[in-house]
Amino acid sequence: MHLGIIGTGYVGLVAGAGFSDFGNDVVCADVDAGKIERLNRGEVPIYEPGLDDLITRNEKAGRLKFTTDIEETIRQADVVFCAVGTPPAADGSADLSAVYEVAKTFGRVIDRYKVFVDKSTVPVGTADKVREIVSGLTKVPFAVASNPEFLKEGAAISDFMKPDRVVIGSDDERAREMLKQLYAPFVRTADRIHVMDPRSAELTKYAANAMLATRISFMNDLAVLAEKIGADIESVRRGVGTDTRIGPKFLFAGPGYGGSCFPKDLSALVFLADQVGHSLDVVRAAEAVNKRQKRVLPSKIKAHFGEDLRGKVVGVWGLAFKPETDDIRESPALVLIDELLAAGATVKAHDPEAMPNIRAIYGDKVTLTDGPYDAADGADALALVTEWHAFRAPDFARLKRIMRTAALFDGRNMWPKEELARLGFTYQGIGRRPVAAAQNG
Ligand code: NAD
Repeated sequence: MHLGIIGTGYVGLVAGAGFSDFGNDVVCADVDAGKIERLNRGEVPIYEPGLDDLITRNEKAGRLKFTTDIEETIRQADVVFCAVGTPPAADGSADLSAVYEVAKTFGRVIDRYKVFVDKSTVPVGTADKVREIVSGLTKVPFAVASNPEFLKEGAAISDFMKPDRVVIGSDDERAREMLKQLYAPFVRTADRIHVMDPRSAELTKYAANAMLATRISFMNDLAVLAEKIGADIESVRRGVGTDTRIGPKFLFAGPGYGGSCFPKDLSALVFLADQVGHSLDVVRAAEAVNKRQKRVLPSKIKAHFGEDLRGKVVGVWGLAFKPETDDIRESPALVLIDELLAAGATVKAHDPEAMPNIRAIYGDKVTLTDGPYDAADGADALALVTEWHAFRAPDFARLKRIMRTAALFDGRNMWPKEELARLGFTYQGIGRRPVAAAQNG
C-alpha cells in the first residue's frame, strides 16, 4: 500500500518505519525542514532504541522516504496518517490546529478516494470535524478514520510491530477493510483488531491513558500515606500487584508521571467532559495528585537540608521522563531542577540521552556531566529521577567516597536501603519505611 505519514515525531517516525518494514511504500512528511534534512542525511532526530536500524534498512530498500512536500505526500498515498502534535492549549484543551491544517491540505489535493487516518491523540468529535473540513473542500470521495496509537516511548518499535491491540474507528466500510489489511501482518497470532465507531476509538485512547495515569497517582497517594503511618509502599505494591484482578503494571510509586501524553491527555479529557457538563472527578484527582507528587523529591531534599539550599550541590541522575528516551516533556526532573535552582542549590546532572534537550532549556544554569559519577562528585545529595539501567545498581562505595554528604534521594525506589544504611548513607525513597524503624519494628 502507498502510505503518507504527516508529522515525523515519536509516533510518525516509528509508524512510518514500521509500516515500510512490512513492505509498504511510505513517505513521511513534516513542516520541520531541519528534521527532514537530518533524516535525509541518515540522522535520526530522536532517541528510540532500534529506530536507526529500522529506518536505515527501509530507506536503503527504497520503501521509506522523507520530505517537506506535504501535498505530494498526500497525492501519492492511498492512506494518509496524520501524526502531528496535539499539544495542550492554555485552557487545557488539545490544540488541534496542526490536525486541521493537514485536513485542509488533504481536502485541497485529493484527486481519488483516499483515507485520512487520525493517529494523533485527539478529542472525541475530531474525526467528525475533519470530515466537515475536507467535505467543504472537495467533491472527491474520501473516508476519515481514527486509529489511535498506543506505543510507549523507549519500547516504541516492539509496541508498534507487536501491538496488544489495534483500534480502528470508522463508519466507512472500505476504509475499515483497507486498515484491517494494512494491520493484518502486525497481529498474525490473534485477532487483536477492534473495529468501532470513530468517537469510541477517540475515547479509547484517552481512557487508556487516564486509567494508567490513575493507577500511578493512586499508588503515589498511598505512598505519602505509607510514609506517615510507617508502612512500605514497595511491600504494598507487591501485595496488591500479585492480585490477578489488579496486575503488577503501572503500580510503582515515583516522582510523578511526565511525558508528552499522560499530562496533556488527562487535561484534554477533563476539558472535554467539562464541555458537556460532566466533572470527571477520578481523572481530576489523578492530575492533582501528580502535580503534588512532582514536588515530593524537592520537598524531601529541603526537609533534609533546610529551605535555603545556597552552597549545596545536588546531583541529579536522569532527566528524561522515563528511561530509553530523550523526551523531557513534563519530566519530573524539570520540577526538581526548577525548585533546586530557586532555593539556591547548584545542580549537576547526567542523563544518557536527554542532556541536549535540557541544555536547550537551562543553558549553563545546570552543569551537565559526561558521566553519572561526575554529577555525584562533591555533591551533598544525589537524586535518582529516571531509572536508566546504568543508575540501577551503581558502585555505592565509590559514591560514598566522592560525595560531600552521603544523602541519597531515590525517586524510583530502586536502591537497597538496608545496604545503603550499612554503608553510612542517609536514604529516602518514595513511600518507603525508614531502615531504622524497620529494624526496630
Ligand atoms: P512530536 O512532537 O514528536 O511530533 C510531531 C511532529 O509533527 C513534529 O515533527 C512537528 O514538526 C510535526 N508537525 C506539526 N505540525 C505539522 C503540520 N501542520 N504538518 C506536518 N507536520 C507537522 O509528537 P509525538 O510525540 O510524535 O505525538 C504525535 C501525536 O501522537 C500526539 O497527538 C500524541 O499525543 C500522540 N501520541 C504520542 C505518543 C508518544 O509516546 N509520543 C504515543 C501515542 C500517541
